[in-house]
Amino acid sequence: MRLSPLRLQAGRDGRSWPVVALLLVVVLVPTVGVLWFMSQAMHNEQLAVRQKLSDVYRAQLQTLQRDVQDHWRQRLAELSIGAPELTASARFAQQIRGGLVDSVVVYGRDGEPLYPTPSARGQGAGQSPSGPWLRAQRQEHSGRLSTAASTYAAIADGATDPRQRARALRAQARCLDKAGERQAAIAVLTHELGRPELRSTADVQGRLIVPSAQLRALQLLASAPDPTRDGLVETLWSRLDDYGEPVLPAAQRRFLMGELRALAPEAPTFPTQAAEALAARYLASDPPSPSSTSLLPTGLPDLWHLASDDGTVVALFEQRRLLQDFELLKSRQTLSLSADIELLAPGTEPRGQFVVSLPVGGLLRDWQLALRPDDASLFATAANQRIHVYWLIGSLVILLIALLAILVAKTVQRQLKLTRLKNDLLATVSHELKTPLASMRLLVDTLLGAGKYDEERVREYLGLIAKENVRLTRLVDNFLTFSRMEQNRHSLDKRQVDLHEVIGDAVDSVSERFEATGFRFDVEVDADLPPLWADADGLVTVVLNLLDNAHKYSADEQHIVLRAYAENDSVCLAVEDSGIGLSSRVAGKIFDRFYQVDQSLSRPGSGCGLGLSIVEFIVAAHGGSIDVESRLGEGSTFTVRLPVEPEGRRGERSTLT
Ligand code: ADP
Repeated sequence: MRLSPLRLQAGRDGRSWPVVALLLVVVLVPTVGVLWFMSQAMHNEQLAVRQKLSDVYRAQLQTLQRDVQDHWRQRLAELSIGAPELTASARFAQQIRGGLVDSVVVYGRDGEPLYPTPSARGQGAGQSPSGPWLRAQRQEHSGRLSTAASTYAAIADGATDPRQRARALRAQARCLDKAGERQAAIAVLTHELGRPELRSTADVQGRLIVPSAQLRALQLLASAPDPTRDGLVETLWSRLDDYGEPVLPAAQRRFLMGELRALAPEAPTFPTQAAEALAARYLASDPPSPSSTSLLPTGLPDLWHLASDDGTVVALFEQRRLLQDFELLKSRQTLSLSADIELLAPGTEPRGQFVVSLPVGGLLRDWQLALRPDDASLFATAANQRIHVYWLIGSLVILLIALLAILVAKTVQRQLKLTRLKNDLLATVSHELKTPLASMRLLVDTLLGAGKYDEERVREYLGLIAKENVRLTRLVDNFLTFSRMEQNRHSLDKRQVDLHEVIGDAVDSVSERFEATGFRFDVEVDADLPPLWADADGLVTVVLNLLDNAHKYSADEQHIVLRAYAENDSVCLAVEDSGIGLSSRVAGKIFDRFYQVDQSLSRPGSGCGLGLSIVEFIVAAHGGSIDVESRLGEGSTFTVRLPVEPEGRRGERSTLT
């Protein structure tokens, strides 16, 4: 019989690919699932962290939002201050001097602007020129300026109406100036026109005459330094800064302010000059209606307006001021997280990423508050910490899956191996049993069929039957031992054993057979072998299997030697034959289960490849080792080394001895 060597290792077994595929599926499918869940979880975590941080920031923004709303409510209330009792110009001045607006326009109940007025309104042409007026005008036009000046002076002296008088004085000063009499002209402009009763007089366009006269005097003085100039500058400056009665028309005031500043740059700036200019620009732009419930754009770039509750005051705000005011409000707030908060005008987009924004509401209905953390990576950092934990857990789960899969694969592989072993064993057993049984039946049939019994022949046949019987018994013994080994149930019954007895039993069982087949069998056992802690039956099986092999695999030179001797801390059992030997290529494989060297070199039908694996198993169970020295065609020596005092047995042994 010949069995091809079994290869049971997964890697080398072609049939192990289903296990590998299963392993891959078992690992890959859950891994993909875990990765998918992890990516979802990380995404959600990022959102959650972002949401959490956004909530903190939003709470901060809400505090600021309330401040801004309160601030603007208060500002709206302040627009109505002094409403019924003050004149329009006084209300204008008051609002501007309050410093909370860039400019205002004060309206009447009918919706007409009262201050500043869009353009100077005339106070009527007054009386039509009388005879002396016409004469004086002719004289002036014909170049007789001194005469004209005297005629105007006479008109002024005789005038009962202050307006007439003031106009005549202004004309007199003009003629004197043209005539080169500058000092006289200045005197008229400052002294004559400086009288209190002329304070309210206005020209035909409604412009007040006195302040214009004062400016003219200053212009005349500019070319000739005069000690009275400073006083005049101061007087005119105060007049222009005065919003009481008689009210200077806004256009005239703006003009005079500009001129005075040009003539006397050393004079202080007017607190209301910019506001006057802004209001004029606003009125000239034909602005849309303002609202008292919302700050609205005016149509002019970066200019916003807000009406008071009663609609009589419209405040103008430049965007720059709004933002500055906001910065001030913001600086009063302490932020728990460092962040930059911006006030965004309608239509403006916040800059940068990770911005939390909130509508300001209230009067700044369409404005937005936008918060940008100073540390832009804050959102990412917070989320990353959690994501690292997810990664860790995910990796551990995948690792666990892989380990479990390997475990499952090993179990499946082992199960497959056992199944295959069982099948092989079954095939081997049936085949091996068939041969001795068939030959025994043949011998018995021959004996039964013979008419007359020849004693010598009967003896010979019975000898052959006994031989087959021995072989059968050894086979069955080996199968049983193998089966127990496979199930790990080969429990050794260890006790103190005298090796002489073991060798005696083995020799008794084979010597007759060896002699019958013409073998020379020498037994060399040292007399003082130490006792062993071992399973006696197991050791007999070892010796018998080795002797059996030596017998089976000997051809021409039939000499077997069994030796037993002590060496160091071991006892050695050596079986030497002069048989067919082994090549070094196969010597390493003969201890594998079911391994058999090419049967053409050994005797056919002589075993099933289990003997040496059983020997190795029993020797290993005793803590010993087995090795083989062999040369092809020259014989082999199998040496078993058994430790005299196996580790950990000292105590046990001492109780038994
Ligand atoms: P088997 O039942 O075939 O003898 P074993 O496990 O006892 O199984 O031996 C395995 C193989 O080792 C044998 O088939 C044989 O070829 C080889 N072998 C064992 N003992 C010897 C020996 N003494 N001399 C030569 N070959 C041997």
